[in-house]
Parts: sequence; C-alpha cells; structure tokens
Amino acid sequence: MGRVFLVGAGPGDPELLTRKAARILEQADVVLFDSLVSAEVLQLASPAAELVDVGKRAGFKLLTQDEINSLLVAYAGRYETVVRLKGGDPMLFGRAAEEIEALRRANIPFEVVPGITAASGAAAAAGFSLTDRRTASQVLFTTFSRGASVKSLGWREVTADTTLAIYMPGVDYAEVAARLVDAGLDPEIPCAVVSHATQPEQRICWTNIAALFDEQKLPAPAVVIVGKVATQAVREIGERTVFGQFSESDNLSIPVRSWVKN
Ligand code: SAH
Repeated sequence: MGRVFLVGAGPGDPELLTRKAARILEQADVVLFDSLVSAEVLQLASPAAELVDVGKRAGFKLLTQDEINSLLVAYAGRYETVVRLKGGDPMLFGRAAEEIEALRRANIPFEVVPGITAASGAAAAAGFSLTDRRTASQVLFTTFSRGASVKSLGWREVTADTTLAIYMPGVDYAEVAARLVDAGLDPEIPCAVVSHATQPEQRICWTNIAALFDEQKLPAPAVVIVGKVATQAVREIGERTVFGQFSESDNLSIPVRSWVKN
C-alpha cells in the first residue's frame, strides 16, 4: 500500500516550495493537483508521474470532494507515492480535513507537507508585515464562502489592531467592503488586494475599505488584506504621511483615532 502526501505548493513561485515538497514531487508516482497549482511547480514532478487535474475551472467542478477522496484512496492502493498537491498551505482553506478523514478511515498512511500560504506570499510581495507590532497584534485568516455548518464570519469581534487576510474574496469586492463596513470597521482602513502573489502576473491594488466598493476586480486568485499594516505608507514611513500625523522619527505611531466604529 502506498503513502499519501498532502503537499503545499505555495503561492506560485516554484522557489517558494519547501525542499521536502520538491523532493516528494520528484518521487511521486501520481500527482493529484488543484487548479491553483502553477505550471512551474508541476514541472518539478517526475516526467514519469501521472498528473491528474482535480481542480475547478471557471466555477465548473471537475470532481466533487467525495470523488477526490475516493481517488486518493484508490491511487494509494495502486502506487507507492501519491501526492495531493494543493496551492499555498494544504491545511488552510484546502479541504485537507476531509481528505485526511478519508485516508484515516481507509487506514492509509499519510503525511502533510506544509506550504507558504497566500497571505504570506501576498504580504511578502507587498512588502508589509502582517503583524507589524506598531499597528497590529493579530492576523485573521478568513473567508466568507464556508460550508453550511460553519457560522459565518466573526468579523464583529475584529479589533482595531487585527489584520484580516480574506481568501476567496469572490466576484465582487463591493460585497467584501459592505461586510467590512457592516462589521463596524472604519471605511478608511487600508486594504491591499494582491492578485497572483509571487507569480509573474502579480498585481497589487492599494486601496481602503471605502474605495474597495468601486475597485476594479483583479484576476483570481487574489487575496484581500485589510488592516493598518496594508498600506504603502508603512514602507515609505519617513518619506510620506498617510492617515495623519506620523512623526518622522517615531516607530510609526499610528494616529490616535478610532478605527473601529462604536
Ligand atoms: N490553501 C491555499 C488557499 C486555498 S483557497 C493557501 O494556503 O493559500 C483559494 C484562495 O487562496 C484564492 O481564492 C485566493 O484568495 C488565495 N490565493 C491562493 N493563491 C494565491 C496567490 N498566488 N495570490 C493571491 N491569492 C491567492
């Protein structure tokens, strides 16, 4: 019986794979990959490996999650090294839990190889720290397309010093902006939309919640980072003043104002 590796492919740049991920890809007999996985990363798989596209294309599901689970179990019966390759980190918004459960049920040994998640790739690309201690104390990895059994967003509990990394922001940023305003966040809070982070097509849109309503959508995949950290001003501190009275010498003391309404 084979072994299944749930491998993180990272945000796109093939150099951002772990060495372990690259090694296991080279050894793979079969690679079941998602549409998020870049062609450059797939090229690291052995030429002899069978490549199976189990991803979604333009909203059209090629395979259901149950079918993918069954495929994993079936391939593990046939091959020694089965790789389930997922964009970013397999354990974040990647349905890893369902696949792990299916493998456990079938008594198939598995291993998880973590990857660099989209929010980390986006922050690196944009050049700000998700937890810049001068402005943020926590990060929330979040989305609003969850299964029915999971209560939707706890954004109401978001504090003024939270950075939100919104995955799968959907087809309409106005909806994202409306939900943020609904949660009581100040419309002036900065946002950065990062599309194709770490890939050649990478684009960054610097905006804020108020302007997000009218922002042109960037090509998917894109992640929306919301919070005081998500501004170019953090990079240019000392040269430029945005959102008020930074003194040039200080450690970016954010202007005293209420970022969260009420
Ligand atoms: N497991 C993945 C997330 C899968 S959910 C991870 O850890 O990154 C899919 C969402 O991830 C996309 O809708 C988008 O919001 C985000 N994403 C994945 N790759 C991205 C990239 N290169 N740039 C920007 N966002 C990305």
